[in-house]
Amino acid sequence: MDIKAVDQQYVANTYRRFPVTIVRGKGSLVWDDQGKEYIDLGTGIAVNTFGIADDVWQQAVIEQLGKVQHMSNLYYTEPCAILAEMLCQRTGMKKVFFSNSGAEANECAIKAARKYAAEKKGAAYSTIITLWNSFHGRTITTLAATGQEVFHQDFLPLTEGFVHAAANDLADVAAKAAEHRTAAIMIECVQGEGGVNALTPDFVQGLAELCKKEDILLICDEVQLGNGRSGMLYGYMNYGIQPDIVSTAKGLCGGLPLGATLLGDKVQSVLGPSDHGSTFGGNPVCCAGAISTLSRLTEPVLEGVRQRSRLIINTLTGQPGIKSVTGLGLMLGIEAEKPAEEVIRSCMEQGVLVLSAHGKVRLLPALNIPLDQLRQALHILVQVCGSAA
Ligand SMILES: *Cc1c(COP(=O)(O)O)cnc(C)c1O
Repeated sequence: MDIKAVDQQYVANTYRRFPVTIVRGKGSLVWDDQGKEYIDLGTGIAVNTFGIADDVWQQAVIEQLGKVQHMSNLYYTEPCAILAEMLCQRTGMKKVFFSNSGAEANECAIKAARKYAAEKKGAAYSTIITLWNSFHGRTITTLAATGQEVFHQDFLPLTEGFVHAAANDLADVAAKAAEHRTAAIMIECVQGEGGVNALTPDFVQGLAELCKKEDILLICDEVQLGNGRSGMLYGYMNYGIQPDIVSTAKGLCGGLPLGATLLGDKVQSVLGPSDHGSTFGGNPVCCAGAISTLSRLTEPVLEGVRQRSRLIINTLTGQPGIKSVTGLGLMLGIEAEKPAEEVIRSCMEQGVLVLSAHGKVRLLPALNIPLDQLRQALHILVQVCGSAA
């Protein structure tokens, strides 16, 4: 059977797929249907936190699969409660709403912020300020939040009440917060899809002060950066701030769909019965995977993330054909002299899977990628970037 032909005929044509069919993997290695081996520096876009078919993770998931695979949120289940407790204890947040994706985690953050502001300051205080070049999801509301107009065209009108300000420009955000009756400011500490650019500490700390002073909620979208990838448990922890709401998803479970919206002091009681819900949210199998993943994100593992990050940055910086390396931890962007698409294609031919982001080559390896595999992949990447086009 020609998988590519069947896929092209029957799957909606929303992805520009690479001409590769992946059949299995182990850790940071994957194999295609021709038996070709690749070193995976993409982890399914920051999802497979400890790589593919990791033994510890698999055990946790399989064990829960044999007990109960799903129950309605009308009943208590142990994995959901334990995971919420772990998330709160490790972040200082007070309550968790579980969903299935990053977009849904942000939808909940937006609903909680609007309800808080409506109750506290009045229904007119509905504006959410986000940054240009941000990415917050593909639903009509999270598209409105996303500060990149290329994603908006063809889908208008979007949800009202979103205003965009320039990243790293505190005066612009402050002006917009003064101009509009504002419920919340939502940021990614490292803009992922926007080109893997870390916000400056001055800007993020300034935003946190502005929010505190004006009783505006600060929402950190940790969908991509969160769950250990930054070298800290959550990206905002690198900035010494405490957001009011944190949304996360991608790497939380380590490979199954799970979104979470963490609600801090101010907003912990804002959502009540029937204000929000999700049939699959907090699925016990996904929560069991997340408990396993989160309990492995210990200080030595996070130090391993920082060590791998330094290895990548030191290996790539200043190499011929490489203009810059940006980002944080194991969420890194490479500005190459060649077009990113060409680097990605050549790397793939030589057995290394990397991603793109806004014209850059993006690396999102497993947090425990073996150092020999990482070095080998970097060697290939350096050669590809440095060789004549
Ligand atoms: C991927 C991403 C989302 C959307 O997550 P989905 O699970 O695809 O809905 C939202 N915010 C950020 C920062 C992301 O990287």
